[in-house]
Amino acid sequence: MDKKLLSIKNLKKNFLIQNKILKAVDDVSFDIIKGKTFAIVGESGCGKSSIANMIANLIKPTSGQILFENRSIFKNDNELKKNIQMIFQDPYLSLNPKMKISEIILEPIKIHKKFKKEKELNLLTSLLNQVNLSSTIAKRYPHELSGGQRQRIAIARSIALNPKFIICDEPLSSLDISTSSQIISLLKNLQQNLNLSYLFISHNLAVVKYISQNAAVMYLGKFLELAPSSKLFLNPLHPYTQALISASFSFKKKNNDKVILKNEIPSPLNPPKGCLFSTRCPYAKNECFEIRPALKEVEKDHQVACHLVKTPSN
Ligand code: SF4
Repeated sequence: MDKKLLSIKNLKKNFLIQNKILKAVDDVSFDIIKGKTFAIVGESGCGKSSIANMIANLIKPTSGQILFENRSIFKNDNELKKNIQMIFQDPYLSLNPKMKISEIILEPIKIHKKFKKEKELNLLTSLLNQVNLSSTIAKRYPHELSGGQRQRIAIARSIALNPKFIICDEPLSSLDISTSSQIISLLKNLQQNLNLSYLFISHNLAVVKYISQNAAVMYLGKFLELAPSSKLFLNPLHPYTQALISASFSFKKKNNDKVILKNEIPSPLNPPKGCLFSTRCPYAKNECFEIRPALKEVEKDHQVACHLVKTPSN
């Protein structure tokens, strides 16, 4: 049976902006399985990165639980900190320009472990090898490297403490297509070799389809659909998921219609009263503007928040 590494329960994050409450993350629950990838997709500003930052313990939730192997991540626990690492969006910003590559990669080791110089050097060479970089790069500074090399350095740093779990927050967004595909292959290989679990945040559905086993589609702070990735891409049920997939792949509804998004995403400070997607949904009916649909299981492991999608008992 699949073992849970992380359990996220009823997670909420509110921000106070212009004297209004912005619900960046609104009652989100999901599990991350050992050795697997859980992806969250959605347009920018939907709350994906707030979830990542809460799991990385960079910001505190308004309420809810995040359990790592059944222990709350909010305990001041060094073992936990080592086991949860993060790769950020922009390798140009996430690496300290004043530090040499060797210092950047070994920084977590120096904070958490004490090694002799010789062991440190062996580890540095091994980490660079694991991300397919030559050890000669260790003496250089970030500005001397390409974007792809920098992201490999960020990945080497993230595995330095032998973690169980890595949050990948849009790790490809600043890279070109060919470099992105190399980084994706690298992440997949490392996952297999090191038995890593990933939370993969992205707006790129093709990448999510390729890398994840489970995925959630997020919109204005809520999950609208959550399923094993194979089901989500083969049989997307929520109109928003269908629209996103239509835009990226050749998905069409049974009547051969493509689902096309209309209007802009509403302000998260002023979300629609009923279904969050009602202002853009081609199938919206009166009920949709009044009543917000709950996320409900419509088949095994497949949850959808839409009045049109019926549960087996309906
Ligand atoms: Fe569209 Fe209504 Fe379903 Fe919302 S509940 S996605 S508006 S059909």
